[in-house]
Amino acid sequence: MKIGSSGCHPRVGPALWAGLAVVLTACSTAPSRSAAPPAATAPAALPPLAAVETRERHAPLGIDPVQAARQSAERRAREQAARWGLDRLPTAAPAPPEQRPALTADRPGLVLRPGLPPVVQRVPTEDRVVFLTIDDGAEKDPEFARMTAELGIPYSTFLTGYLARPDWGYFRGLLANGHAATGNHTLNHRDMRKLTAAEQRTEICGQQDELERETGSRPPLFRPPYGEYTDDTLRAAQQCGIRAVALWNEEAFPDRMEYRHADRVLHPGDIILTHFRGRAEWGGTMTDVLRRVLRTVDEQGFALALLDDYL
Ligand SMILES: [Zn+2]
Repeated sequence: MKIGSSGCHPRVGPALWAGLAVVLTACSTAPSRSAAPPAATAPAALPPLAAVETRERHAPLGIDPVQAARQSAERRAREQAARWGLDRLPTAAPAPPEQRPALTADRPGLVLRPGLPPVVQRVPTEDRVVFLTIDDGAEKDPEFARMTAELGIPYSTFLTGYLARPDWGYFRGLLANGHAATGNHTLNHRDMRKLTAAEQRTEICGQQDELERETGSRPPLFRPPYGEYTDDTLRAAQQCGIRAVALWNEEAFPDRMEYRHADRVLHPGDIILTHFRGRAEWGGTMTDVLRRVLRTVDEQGFALALLDDYL
């Protein structure tokens, strides 16, 4: 049996008709090889070969190089966030205010005593920022140092002398990352209400001296242990060169946030407290608690900023 090679007139037996239907259809519709292509599909002009090759070296044809670069940056950001268990990178803080917000009596979250340093639970600002503060200094987790450095997290530490003293080098490393500031949390973490005025001064000024010796500067911010203080505490703080006393409105744990606000959400200017603690103290790591804070801040549409820039 032979199917004709010039034209479409095969001579076949009845059993093969079904199988050859496709061939016959193709023969009846395909244009002959010698026919000219329709004018509408002819390219107006071919690009010079060199131009095509140059484009192909930089990006696949049809993809805008700017768009490709953006997609690649977005992919890297997602990968960086995923390394720390986050869906996306934290929102960067806005530029700090040129002047620190004025602390006036009509703003919530402030205790103002004439002639004494202000006590601040919430910084008066309209910026969608909140402030992370980390106290004491018992746990010294190198993963936390890596995470805050890689993600550029701003935060303030309030360090107690006897807890930081076994490894001041760890805290100098946090400061060297460039996103942290250090505050004063006394030498021995005593309840200020139970000490004489002179003892309180020793606790605060002594820690200023130790911080200056170990980190190179005397911090402007102070936090009394347990958040407890008297007017004597404020006077002692002032005599030791303290500008403001920072308390808090939220406390972060590896598994939850606790709010002092009845509406249980963050407010602009809120100060978040957490601690240098490890798995033995609260069943999680420093990176767990930081992840908890970052997710909360992100979900509620805020960015972390540096308390020292605002207070
Ligand atoms: Zn403390």
